[in-house]
Amino acid sequence: MELLTPRTSLGETEAKLGRGAQYCSYSSLSFRINIIGMPELPEVQTIVTDLKRRIIGKKIADFWTDTPRIIKGFSPNDFKREVVGFEIADVQRRGKNILFYLEKTIRKRKDKKIMLAHQKMTGHFLIGRWRIHPPKFSEGKLRGVKRVDATVKGPIASDPYNQYIRVIFRLDNGWELGLSDLRKFARITVGPPQKIEHSKEIASLGPDALSPKFSPKYLFSVLQKRKKLIKPILLEQNVMAGVGNIYADEALFLAKINPQRKAAGVKRSEVERLIKSIKKVLQKSIRLKGTSVIDYRDTYGRRGKYDKVRWVYDKEKLPCRICRTLIKRVKIGQRSSYFCPRCQK
Ligand SMILES: [Zn+2]
Repeated sequence: MELLTPRTSLGETEAKLGRGAQYCSYSSLSFRINIIGMPELPEVQTIVTDLKRRIIGKKIADFWTDTPRIIKGFSPNDFKREVVGFEIADVQRRGKNILFYLEKTIRKRKDKKIMLAHQKMTGHFLIGRWRIHPPKFSEGKLRGVKRVDATVKGPIASDPYNQYIRVIFRLDNGWELGLSDLRKFARITVGPPQKIEHSKEIASLGPDALSPKFSPKYLFSVLQKRKKLIKPILLEQNVMAGVGNIYADEALFLAKINPQRKAAGVKRSEVERLIKSIKKVLQKSIRLKGTSVIDYRDTYGRRGKYDKVRWVYDKEKLPCRICRTLIKRVKIGQRSSYFCPRCQK
C-alpha cells in the first residue's frame, strides 16, 4: 500500500512500534495515546503564526466535512450556514486552542463570530487544495470508498500523516484550509464572541505558559497548596495553559527536578528555575516549529524539528545527553514521564 512508504527518519516511538504503526489496529490505541502526546503550545503557535500570514483577510467560500462529530453543537449543514461568507479577520492561540475571528458586514453593521478549534491528539490544519472522490453508486450499490486527494505537490500530498482530511474550508482565493486528523478527536465550534470567550474551554484556562502572569510567585503559591506530584500539576490547563507531556518532561529536565517530587516540596528557587526552563524550552521549540515525534505537521505539511534536539521525552533507555545515565520512563497518573535519574533530583 502506498501509504506505508517508509520515511527516512523514524522517531524512537515509531521505531519501537515498527513502520506503519500509525495504521495498526485500535487495540494498541491506548498505548500509543500515552506516548504520542498532542500538539502543545509550540505546535499550536507554529500553526497560528502560519495561519495569520496565510489566511487573514480571506473569506470562507464553502465548507465540507465527512466527520460530523468534529463539529460541536451544529449539524454540518447548519455549521456551513454559520461560517460561509465570513472573512477571517484574525487568528489567535489561547492555550492549545485556536480562535478564528470571523467578520461579515451586513447593512453596514459588522457581524462578528469566533470559530474555536482544538486539534486534540492528532489533528493539524493544513493549507492546500484537495479533490473529493465520493464512492460510486452503481447497480443499486455503493462501490469503493470516499477518497480525499491533495492536488498540490509536496508533503501535503506525499506524507501519509497529512492524508486524513476530515474538514475543508474553501477560501475565496482558491486555497483551502483542511484539517487532517487520524483519530478524529479534534473539535470545532462557532458562536458569538461573548459565548466563546466564556465557554468552559477558554474561561477555565490558567495563565499562558509564555505570559508574564505565569511567574515564580504564582506557580510557587499554587504548588504549596497541592498534595499531588509536580509533573501532573504542570499538565493542568487551569494552572498553566499550553504545556503538555512533551514540554513538561523537557522543562523538568532542564530545571533538574525529578517528576516524582511532591509539588509542595519544590523550593522557591527551584520553581524559579522551572519557570525559566518552561519558557526557554517553549521558545526554542517555537523557533524549531514544534515536535513531530509522530503526527504533528505545520500548515505546509512539514515536520517540526524540536524532536531532533530534545533531552528526555520518549528517550527511554537512551543515554542522557549530559551524564550518559540511561533515561528512565515512569508512569505518573496515566501518562509516561521521561527523566534522567542522575541529573534530576
Ligand atoms: Zn543525566
